[in-house]
Amino acid sequence: MALKITEEKCAGCGLCIQACPFGALVVESREKLNKPHSKFKKLVTVSAACTVCGACVSTCKFDALKVEEEQRAKPVANLGDYKGLWVFAEQRGGVIQDVAYELLGKGRELADELGVELSAVLMGHQMKDKASALFEHGADKVYYVDDPGLAEYNTEPYTDVFSDLINKYKPEAVLAGATSIGRAFVARVAVRIKTGLTADCTELGVDTDKRLLLQTRPAFGGNIMATIICPDYRPQMATVRHKVFKKPVPHQGRTGQVIEEKAVIKDCRAKVLEVLHEMQNQVNLTEADIIVSGGRGLGKPENFKVIEELANELNAAVGASRAAVDAGWISSYHQVGQTGKTVRPKIYIACGISGAIQHLVGMNSSDTIVAINKDPDAPIFKIADYGIVGDLFEVVPAMVKAIRNR
Ligand SMILES: Cc1cc2nc3c(=O)[nH]c(=O)nc-3n(C[C@H](O)[C@H](O)[C@H](O)COP(=O)(O)OP(=O)(O)OC[C@H]3O[C@@H](n4cnc5c(N)ncnc54)[C@H](O)[C@@H]3O)c2cc1C
Repeated sequence: MALKITEEKCAGCGLCIQACPFGALVVESREKLNKPHSKFKKLVTVSAACTVCGACVSTCKFDALKVEEEQRAKPVANLGDYKGLWVFAEQRGGVIQDVAYELLGKGRELADELGVELSAVLMGHQMKDKASALFEHGADKVYYVDDPGLAEYNTEPYTDVFSDLINKYKPEAVLAGATSIGRAFVARVAVRIKTGLTADCTELGVDTDKRLLLQTRPAFGGNIMATIICPDYRPQMATVRHKVFKKPVPHQGRTGQVIEEKAVIKDCRAKVLEVLHEMQNQVNLTEADIIVSGGRGLGKPENFKVIEELANELNAAVGASRAAVDAGWISSYHQVGQTGKTVRPKIYIACGISGAIQHLVGMNSSDTIVAINKDPDAPIFKIADYGIVGDLFEVVPAMVKAIRNR
């Protein structure tokens, strides 16, 4: 959908501007816009802030505003033509990323429920030998595309090759990591092949009768968990963050079929000149076995020292709620939750964190959750395995002391 302004009709009266809740409309001089051929001196223009809500349309006395519906793609006529579940096996520098194994673990469960094959799609260069790890983590087949142009991630060839494979083999569902790579090209693939995509799922299931992928994710600012389906288009596509699912235990020696495909790499508009690997950040929240997190209950930035002391004793990473990050007490690298990192440590210790849903979705899969909060009704206690009702400034130092005295 898009907001269309019929320039000949627009009088530049500005009535629509007051109706726009997003400040997306501006009145400008036609002369400045180089559109002087009108009896009106001004013209309304629309910016990228427009959400096409349509609130402005009825305010226009000159019938100059219209919300134009884009044509929906035709639903897939024969859904039964699409079979099997695919996982995008993301690789970086020739190393298959853990998120791919996690998705294979979940994908295996879903494929078994649906009674279909599970396949991995691996795009890279000189990595055929890596297919064995994909089989050991649950794949029945690996579609392998080898080309020097696929060695490092590049949006255009990845989108082209993956879309071509989907069009050729027609899987019914495709899963990919909600990583910077997954987010960048999988959305493009979905648009290219005209299907739906649910980003950042926190749970996946299947309806075996209707053969639907049940894609659950937070919606409306995280206030509800919505289960989204894609009944009319195929494949059903979802991205899932690293650590949402457990990495399965590999079945040593399990094998499958490698199907080699040729890449058709067209001239790319974007050229990769150099690949700089991310600087090692000392905060490796997603890999930490133990995380001690602090929230607004800490009161001020200096009080993160209390959290760091416990973290040091436990060889743990320091996490934080968004409230603490937004207050500028700690950097956003530490944020756990819907707009931060998803973590799955063995032990998660939440100190002075209330347990808002947006925080919980990022850590509720931790093996053991310990909550320290002075409010006995804090929602975090509903999901905590161990809850300590008390002042964190007494409880946490007491824990540090107890550990030191062991
Ligand atoms: C779209 C969206 C995305 C969001 N994404 C995230 C996200 O990724 N991560 C995230 O964390 N939040 C996120 N939020 C914000 C979230 O809704 C909460 O506002 C936030 O998690 C609250 O942080 P908090 O628990 O630290 O603060 P509060 O909710 O203010 O809780 C502070 C807690 O500390 C306790 N306390 C105070 N003093 C002490 C003490 N001395 N000892 C012990 N306990 C004490 C209080 O009882 C209280 O329970 C998001 C919100 C929105 C709308």
